[in-house]
Amino acid sequence: MRVLTFCFGDYQTNTYFCFDESGACAVIDPGMDGEAVVNKLRERGLTPSHILLTHGHFDHILGVKAVQSATGAKVCIHTADAPLLSDPGRNAAVYFYRGQTESYPSLHGDILLHDGDRIDCGSFSFTVLHTPGHTAGSVCFSCGDTLFCGDTVFAYGYGRTDLAGGDAGALADSLERLAAIPENMKLCPGHGNSAHLDNCRSQIKYYARMLRMEG
Ligand SMILES: [Zn+2]
Ligand SMILES: [Zn+2]
Repeated sequence: MRVLTFCFGDYQTNTYFCFDESGACAVIDPGMDGEAVVNKLRERGLTPSHILLTHGHFDHILGVKAVQSATGAKVCIHTADAPLLSDPGRNAAVYFYRGQTESYPSLHGDILLHDGDRIDCGSFSFTVLHTPGHTAGSVCFSCGDTLFCGDTVFAYGYGRTDLAGGDAGALADSLERLAAIPENMKLCPGHGNSAHLDNCRSQIKYYARMLRMEG
């Protein structure tokens, strides 16, 4: 699998294209600018079969509609975050998206995910790790030695827990689960730079302890 990383939109959300030589492709978190994502896909002759969403926040999902209508890709989201797709209050758009929620696109998930699910895409496949805390339905997608971790953990921090569905105790559990992965996974987060788990493991455990003191 090859991975291309793009960063579009006001909130600098990372969008990942995962693809192989056969042209099989999945887009992880189309971000806020769906047209930009569609243009990048066209430039590379890629047609994704799946749009994988790490969670339902507006800065990760606003671009879904454009990518879905241009490509017919199936939208995959954890069952607990699926309601966020059509709810500007719960997906936080109402607070951050300059109040433009009248024209907010109504979306739905085609494939509702659960922990341990596998998503096949050409020669590669993703395994779903349910990592609640930033939202109730936050997930990480593991593929080979890469972990797409959304807003659960960043190279230098972790996702906020003060928005709808946020839960500091649940995030502490999720971070401990990630820190316990024995392999040195490459972490590809929803914002900011990538990192390697071996370099972050003790920091992630520390974040979990901090969150427990909060909660
Ligand atoms: Zn988020
Ligand atoms: Zn985000």
